[in-house]
Amino acid sequence: MREEIIAVAQAMDRAGFAPSKSGNVSVRLPDGFLITPSGLPYARTTPDDLVHLGFGGDALSGGKPSSEWRFHAAIYAARPDAKALVHTHSPRATALSATRRDIPAFHYMIALAGGSTIPCAAYATFGTQELALNAVTALNGRKAILLANHGVIAIGGSLAGAWTLAQEVENLAGQYLDILASGLDPVILDEAEMARVIDGFSGYGKVM
Ligand code: 13P
Ligand code: ZN
Repeated sequence: MREEIIAVAQAMDRAGFAPSKSGNVSVRLPDGFLITPSGLPYARTTPDDLVHLGFGGDALSGGKPSSEWRFHAAIYAARPDAKALVHTHSPRATALSATRRDIPAFHYMIALAGGSTIPCAAYATFGTQELALNAVTALNGRKAILLANHGVIAIGGSLAGAWTLAQEVENLAGQYLDILASGLDPVILDEAEMARVIDGFSGYGKVM
């Protein structure tokens, strides 16, 4: 599990989703979660550098946890379905997050995040309990959100699922930015169609 967390963190870095050593990754454990350390370049992170925290943020082993341990803890508490969490500053989703708008259903793949939009959580300072609350509120049954003026959170039933979703959010955010830049108006899929797509996804593909 420790090796898998590092592999995802390094893949996130190689993809350009973690500029200036941003982002963080965690996986749920029976008694808490295992999270990347704060500020340590992913290329130099070893399995022993990961930090084991209880659900209340109490240190069980390891050094300094990610500064965002509060939103990881709050999401694991609020969402029993969350087995892993990937937080990125991927470039196009982060650019879009500065507009503080939800990504609408301009494409049916928005449904991968579990609803008819990918919501944008209200802004709060990084590392705060307020950001944790805003993230839990925006997630509301979804598996991915934007964080205003910040980046992306994706959760999954597995680490591979959370990472795949974080990549898809970047893809969709980029396409939506391209539409906005074109000045043309996208046709947004209606709720009934998105409900059909969500239903279609429910027996399809196990990775999320
Ligand atoms: P950490 O290095 O403390 O995980 O912080 C990165 C980040 O993305 C803060 O929002
Ligand atoms: Zn961040």
